[in-house]
Amino acid sequence: MPMAAEIIDGKLIAARVRAGLAVRVAELGTRGVRPGLAVVLVGDDPASHIYVRNKTRACAEVGFRTFDHRLPATVAEPELLALIERLNRDPEVDGILVQLPLPAPLDGRRVLLAIDPDKDVDGIHPDNLGRLLMGQPRFVACTPLGIMRLLDEAKTPLVGADAVVIGRSNMVGKPIAALLLLADATVTVCHSRTRDLPDRVGRADIVVAAVGQAEMVKGDWIKPGATVIDVGINRRADGTLTGDVEWAPAAARARAMTPVPGGVGPMTIAMLLGNTLMSAARRASSGPLLEG
Ligand code: NDP
Repeated sequence: MPMAAEIIDGKLIAARVRAGLAVRVAELGTRGVRPGLAVVLVGDDPASHIYVRNKTRACAEVGFRTFDHRLPATVAEPELLALIERLNRDPEVDGILVQLPLPAPLDGRRVLLAIDPDKDVDGIHPDNLGRLLMGQPRFVACTPLGIMRLLDEAKTPLVGADAVVIGRSNMVGKPIAALLLLADATVTVCHSRTRDLPDRVGRADIVVAAVGQAEMVKGDWIKPGATVIDVGINRRADGTLTGDVEWAPAAARARAMTPVPGGVGPMTIAMLLGNTLMSAARRASSGPLLEG
């Protein structure tokens, strides 16, 4: 089948975003402010360790400071909450990232609520999600922010467009639906109980698939000319990665589509850096001009 879709190159776009951020970090430096991100990692989950390593490396590359806090899976919840409280008060810390999922029996919700919403650069505190729903976003979750940037780069018309979001998680599905709505798209949110998913997808100008099931969205569901954003990261038996959308047949029908890997993934970290910079810029404008 001939490939029709423009491939939306998230790796390239993310590199451009990071280069722009590095310039702004240098500007902030002249005012004595260096963005700082605190990363809290609890336990030994190998995937979480890889995510944290990638995030701290990306921070270093654009000139941020990182404050690494690694705690054993056995840490008592009050101790973790006390650490977050200290980070909330630390003027050098512009953003706090608690790598999820937290090992049981820690209560992820309680830990999340402890983060100062003004430092919640992951955009997952209920205060930030609520602001987004009210149309007054402060920090927006990084993956949905990255998706909006990719749609913009692919020159996707949003106003009045029919958008279908598959998945309703707090980290991806709900915030991307809210952002698309804010951009005046007509949004349908689908989930595991949705009837007639192929029909709904088939009517969409924009499809955002955030399910976590390899190639569950079939290529022949895609409306010719649609823009397809594949958020899913699924590992095949041979160790390679694949998305939630059947790549070749969907790309043959779509106008533009993100690959997996190299689409949404790289944007997520770039947006985390962007949110942290935004927080630091606010510190620069309200705090003293020079430290020390
Ligand atoms: P969740 O597991 O939290 O949510 C999955 C959603 O998919 C749920 O809302 C679920 O519905 C829905 N779903 C499950 N089965 C079906 C089905 N058969 N038909 C329609 N909907 C279905 O996942 P996340 O949102 O956290 O992540 C989704 C995917 O995106 C994962 O592969 C994850 O790895 C990836 N991801 C990638 C990121 C990146 O940077 N590239 C960042 C974050 C996530 P219900 O609510 O009814 O259960």
